[in-house]
Amino acid sequence: MTALSYAPGLAPDGPWATYLDQIERVRPYLGHLERWVETLKRPKRCLVVDIPIEMDDGSVSHFEGFRVQHNLSRGPGKGGVRYHPDVTLEEVMALAAWMTIKNAAVNLPYGGAKGGVRCDPARLSMKELERVTRRYTSEIGIVIGPMQDIPAPDVNTNAQVMAWMMDTYSMNVGATATGVVTGKPIALGGSLGRVKATGRGVFVIGREAARRLKLPLEGARVAVQGFGNVGASAAELYAAHGARVVAVQDASGTVFAPQGLDVRALIAHAEANGGVAGCPGADAIDAESFWQVESDVLIPAALEGVLTAERARHLRTKMVLEGANGPTLPEADLILRDRGITVVPDVIANAGGVTVSYFEWVQDFSSFFWTEEEINARLDKILIGAFARIWADAERHAIPLRTAAFVVACERVLSARELRGLYP
Ligand code: NAD
Repeated sequence: MTALSYAPGLAPDGPWATYLDQIERVRPYLGHLERWVETLKRPKRCLVVDIPIEMDDGSVSHFEGFRVQHNLSRGPGKGGVRYHPDVTLEEVMALAAWMTIKNAAVNLPYGGAKGGVRCDPARLSMKELERVTRRYTSEIGIVIGPMQDIPAPDVNTNAQVMAWMMDTYSMNVGATATGVVTGKPIALGGSLGRVKATGRGVFVIGREAARRLKLPLEGARVAVQGFGNVGASAAELYAAHGARVVAVQDASGTVFAPQGLDVRALIAHAEANGGVAGCPGADAIDAESFWQVESDVLIPAALEGVLTAERARHLRTKMVLEGANGPTLPEADLILRDRGITVVPDVIANAGGVTVSYFEWVQDFSSFFWTEEEINARLDKILIGAFARIWADAERHAIPLRTAAFVVACERVLSARELRGLYP
């Protein structure tokens, strides 16, 4: 069976195809475990749900929601929930699969899952958003749970959405179940450090990669696409460590300042104005020019599929540090490799969020909460260790970091698969 013959009807250049291509590149390194590789090319379970809600004007609207559990060989499902007008089942399948790889690459005791609702939260009132969230949670309640599958925030979802999910699930099972979601408010069993954990991880992994590439942090030029939870937190840490954030793009526009942006002021501006556009002290440039800004580190931290082959040919950077999931298309990966531009893959670069989610889940179970210092120290240790292993494997086999990360992860997942055996 060829890589793409499964799931006919899916786009040949969509995110699922990108994921399948990545798996194919790993195959030669799997040894006897290759026997099980087909497991990774099929999601274990896909749930599609209808979410009818009453709108504030009294009308009824239907939204489509998804929860995909890609692989549960190593533990319960784990992965975020995305609210976006472009969410599709295919996208959620790919995001769930990348969670399988990410959780295994970092050695967290989880499988991979992801969820999404096709909606535009900017066009919903808070009450409508709450109704969408509660009905969605009820509908996927048959597959989620603290020991089954644990959602978390992703694009356009946050601690409040997690609080509603936790409450709805708890009401349905008749007991408060804080461990059913992570990324909750602190008052409901959330973890210190969770909000900025993904951005922190992007920074820590970027620093580790830069050190090995002999790229000094001081004065390094950083360009960031996506200035939300991930992009803004990473940019803030880069600026705090002496780097210059020279360009930022979000859905509102693109700002450029070769001398470096004041990231704290930019965050305040984006919060007050709904985006970075119009930020004082920076030039507005058109969206496509962002990809030609000269930088040392480029951080895509918005959506998948943005680094096309065409953009990869013209990129003027030394390192692509993937804050977003799946930002680089397979052809672009090859072009960047040939151009000597290091790509630090999503499955390790943005694993900080799920790692602190894991800490939150552990703290909820033990009802014993750690300090932020303990959390950050444990986070850094896990990420630095995981990255060192991936870097060493990449060097040993002379393969890109993404392939090395996938090899480490696939070996763990497929060993579990083999040891568990086939049921029944
Ligand atoms: P967010 O909703 O907080 O921010 C998304 C940002 O992307 C916003 O600044 C938005 O304006 C920008 N954006 C949206 N469309 C854009 C476009 N067409 N062009 C330019 N910018 C655009 O989301 P987030 O949580 O920061 O997630 C960003 C990425 O990081 C996603 O790929 C997500 O899957 C990934 N990720 C998030 C986490 C997490 O903990 N939040 C963890 C791992 C990976």
